Amino acid sequence: MIKLSNIEKYYGTYHALRDVNCHIKEGEFFSLLGPSGSGKTTLLRTIAGFERIDSGTVMIGGQSMDGVPANMRPTNMVFQSYAIFPHMSVAQNVAYGLRSQRLGQAKTAEMVEESLGKVGLAGYGDRAAHALSGGQRQRVALARALILKPKVLLLDEPLSALDRKLREEMQSELRRLQRSLGITFVLVTHDQEEALTMSDRVAVMFEGQVAQLDSPQALYKRPASKRVAEFFGAMNILKAEIIKVDGDIATTQIEGLGVAELAIPTDANAASSFCAGVRPESMTILDDAEQAYAKETAATVTEVEYRGELTYYDVKFEGSDTPVVVSMRNTSNRKLREVGQQVRIGWESASAVLLLDQN
Ligand code: ADP
Ligand code: MG
Repeated sequence: MIKLSNIEKYYGTYHALRDVNCHIKEGEFFSLLGPSGSGKTTLLRTIAGFERIDSGTVMIGGQSMDGVPANMRPTNMVFQSYAIFPHMSVAQNVAYGLRSQRLGQAKTAEMVEESLGKVGLAGYGDRAAHALSGGQRQRVALARALILKPKVLLLDEPLSALDRKLREEMQSELRRLQRSLGITFVLVTHDQEEALTMSDRVAVMFEGQVAQLDSPQALYKRPASKRVAEFFGAMNILKAEIIKVDGDIATTQIEGLGVAELAIPTDANAASSFCAGVRPESMTILDDAEQAYAKETAATVTEVEYRGELTYYDVKFEGSDTPVVVSMRNTSNRKLREVGQQVRIGWESASAVLLLDQN
């Protein structure tokens, strides 16, 4: 649906987008995720046609968008601040999306009501916009963007102004809306959890570059680099030495854990250096007789943090100084370990992932 090729964008001398390549499929819920300043909004505005690029191509629906102004593109955008006109009614706000269409009153009213229905605000047309709650205002902004039936809806941090509970409600609602409409959504967010729960695929951006484009599961389980791994929550980073390479599998010596066969990240080249990542929940402190894991390593507990559902243990593997976090679910029959205790940690090759060790 959207094909971005070799996009370069400068603001003066500032290199805002660096060789961005991205293929967004039709009907997909796609997210651009990255820290503040990573170029997400710039890329979204590039798709919308609000931003001139220095080189590269934007194709939408198989057509080059070169020279096509924003209002002629099959896209519509919902902005970070909802830009609702408080002095107008809900219906007037939604009809604003039709302003260039010169439709009759009856047709406009019908389309407004249809659009309000899609976002769960049927019958709200006569209300004053200023009397709406934050969540309702965001729905009005959505209805206004949907009224022209765009093939692609571009959403720039649409939920960031809402409090946590409302944000979570709106997340599932947006997801439902996207499924029922079947159109392509491109969402900008800096919130990892939001991107993981809502998206079919996510492009992770750092400093104007796409660092990895993958499904939420692949990003969490198989991050390609240390930076992506650490962006998605706690990841233990250990030194890793490659002993042998066989196709795309590397036999790897991991600090404190030992030898494992790990997949080599696709972006790796001869000059790459690596480390290994292990999530706290991918290792287990074994009970006395328990041996359900393919591999074991000896460790000492250095810190215990009980947090109700989970306990976080800081441990040190034998022969390593790197502190490692292991999280354990507090089931009824599991006893808490104590600082100084010697334990056995169960893990398997699938617990670890080989990461590009950039910067
Ligand atoms: P994000 O949406 O990921 O927070 P942006 O795309 O808004 O990031 O901005 C990326 C970088 O480009 C930032 O460093 C920002 O300061 C810069 N930038 C954005 N818009 C402009 C502009 N109009 N002029 C100059 N610099 C800009
Ligand atoms: Mg932004």
